[in-house]
Amino acid sequence: MLIKGELLYEGKAKKVYRTDDPDCYLVEFKDDATAFDGLKKGTIARKGEINTRLSALLFTMLAGQDIPTHFIEQTGPREMLVKAVKIIPVEVVARNIAAGSLAKRLGLEEGTVLKRPVLEFYYKSDELHDPMINNYHIAALELATATQIKEMESYAWKVNELLTGFLQPANLVLVDFKLEFGLYHDRVLLADEISPDTCRFWDSSSGEKLDKDRFRRDLGGVEDAYEEVLRRVESLCG
Ligand code: UDP
Repeated sequence: MLIKGELLYEGKAKKVYRTDDPDCYLVEFKDDATAFDGLKKGTIARKGEINTRLSALLFTMLAGQDIPTHFIEQTGPREMLVKAVKIIPVEVVARNIAAGSLAKRLGLEEGTVLKRPVLEFYYKSDELHDPMINNYHIAALELATATQIKEMESYAWKVNELLTGFLQPANLVLVDFKLEFGLYHDRVLLADEISPDTCRFWDSSSGEKLDKDRFRRDLGGVEDAYEEVLRRVESLCG
């Protein structure tokens, strides 16, 4: 039995604790939600539990397909044990359909299917408001080595393929998503979470948004949408 130790970090949606094993952290998922660079704040009932379960199921599915992840096991309704990674301060966003900031920046109508999927990097920095960066910026700031960038890119493409195919039978379209990676004894592992907070999921028949955009854009039915995604993913996992 691992003992929960010192609070190492508290973010917008999660708390990370040390344990008595230096190679393991406990991650606690909160119901708090923020959007627009922290300007919009709120809570989404049961979000912590739903995102814990969803992340656990999706990390397990990906690990089974040779994507190395930080996930070890779910240890409580809103708590998971993970490998103690050092997060690489680069957010990797993959996109299949134009939405959100891409639709705005490139003047595309939301819902436009991209002729080819797109990968983007953002520098994880609250002070700088997470600016978009490219491989050269990552090298110049020494945020990751060239090999680590290649690994993050290749895992992100693989995750896009696997998740898209996995979610299809549940009538969920994977529009876009954000991944974070961490270093564990010099190895790059997929980390953070995979949930409606970090992905855009649309219902494949109605196009209904089943993700954090319901919170961002005050569309209502936020809790129901998160519950619905969990129900559908659980049905895929038997
Ligand atoms: N995303 C995220 N955290 C962020 C920014 C974006 O998880 O800090 C996710 C977001 O949920 C979406 C994808 O990354 O699935 C692309 O987001 P976008 O750049 O369109 O920004 P947004 O419209 O969310 O501000």
